[in-house]
Amino acid sequence: MAVYKLYIGLIKKNNDMKKFVLSLFFALAATQLMAQTTVLYCGHLLDVETGKMRSEVSVVVKNNIIESVVDGYIKQNKKDTYIDLKNKYVLPGLIDMHVHIESETGKNKYIKRFTDNPADVAFQSTVYAKRTLMAGFTVVRDLGGSGINTSLRNAIDRGVVDGPRIFSAGKAIGTTGGHADPTNGYRKDLMGDPGPDDGVINSADDAKKAVRQRYKNGADVIKITATGGVLSVAKDGSGPQFTPEELNAIISTANDYGMITAAHAHGVEGMKRAVEAGITTIEHGTMMNDEIMDLMIKKGTYYVPTLSAGNFVAEKAKIEGYYPAIIVPKALEIGPQISATFAKAVKRGVPIAFGTDAGVFPHGDNGKEFELMVDAGMTPIKTIQAATIVNAKVLKSENKLGSIAKGKFADIIAVDSDPLQDIKTLQAVSFVMKNGKVYKK
Ligand SMILES: [Zn+2]
Repeated sequence: MAVYKLYIGLIKKNNDMKKFVLSLFFALAATQLMAQTTVLYCGHLLDVETGKMRSEVSVVVKNNIIESVVDGYIKQNKKDTYIDLKNKYVLPGLIDMHVHIESETGKNKYIKRFTDNPADVAFQSTVYAKRTLMAGFTVVRDLGGSGINTSLRNAIDRGVVDGPRIFSAGKAIGTTGGHADPTNGYRKDLMGDPGPDDGVINSADDAKKAVRQRYKNGADVIKITATGGVLSVAKDGSGPQFTPEELNAIISTANDYGMITAAHAHGVEGMKRAVEAGITTIEHGTMMNDEIMDLMIKKGTYYVPTLSAGNFVAEKAKIEGYYPAIIVPKALEIGPQISATFAKAVKRGVPIAFGTDAGVFPHGDNGKEFELMVDAGMTPIKTIQAATIVNAKVLKSENKLGSIAKGKFADIIAVDSDPLQDIKTLQAVSFVMKNGKVYKK
């Protein structure tokens, strides 16, 4: 009471304070008036936590947040909006842990580096972002571009561009001549000597600087290329490309800033070094052996298989001229191995996160990964859990993302048939809501 009197006294004495309190009152009243409630009537709803399909459920969304999930179809009133998904199968928005939203495969991709201006890349990336969202992917982790990925994230968050929520790595980090060296394959006078800002490091100090620069540029995650890559214009696709000291410097610095880390890795040695240094996820993991699988299980390292990329690359390598000649043998050899490795990893119990490497194949085809994972021996529910609750946890966002539950962001999708019986249905998502807004229905 005394506090209250003092408060009123203060307001009386101070006109500014009075104005402030009044404006606060009106702001609160306005939020209440503007609060938009949408109710989704879901014929079937997949509870990804339990793996059970529920029937006849109402999901109440207030603005952008899920307010409640209740059994039965709740009674309608005049002021709220109702969406009929009674014939559909509803599930949380999908999360892809590995995309490159700035670019897309194509015969002239390698020339585009010299012909496209940053503005060209930016405009084009909005098309890929929208396509990804419309395919039911409401969250993606972008594992490497020019930095436009981070600006695109901001534009989407501001509502300027339609697209998924983006966790951006900015530019990937590699070593000189490594998979992420942006001047690989250039004429010598164009190669120059790129450094940490461009993502090329050659010491522990460089490594720390590169991570801090990414933090400064607004990146959410750190991506490294622990071994050679299939699509870089270089001969070796599998050898290690960082020293243990460099890896330790990158990962410990990233951890200091609360950033998770991802390592592109095909060969055994580079993969092992990255896992030992404490990387969060291994991407592709083509030649992963039993020893590394056990090490990953022990350390809780997630495997992001990107089967779609492996498949696509191996297929296109058979078309003459699709990739530069130096890439063809790597694509033919490494691509098909990924599915076999993934099958072994699933059997052995390696933690699996869902990621596709979209951009290496057309954006929007991300949902094909589910079918490939099931073909390789993972159960449909496990693949969906990987793309929802598991990925949310890897992104340290399980409080806001990954399931349809009270307090989480209203990222909700629907398909026309039961994905637990027909996994291909996830390639034809028919309803998309992100952050409480309907984008497709
Ligand atoms: Zn990639």
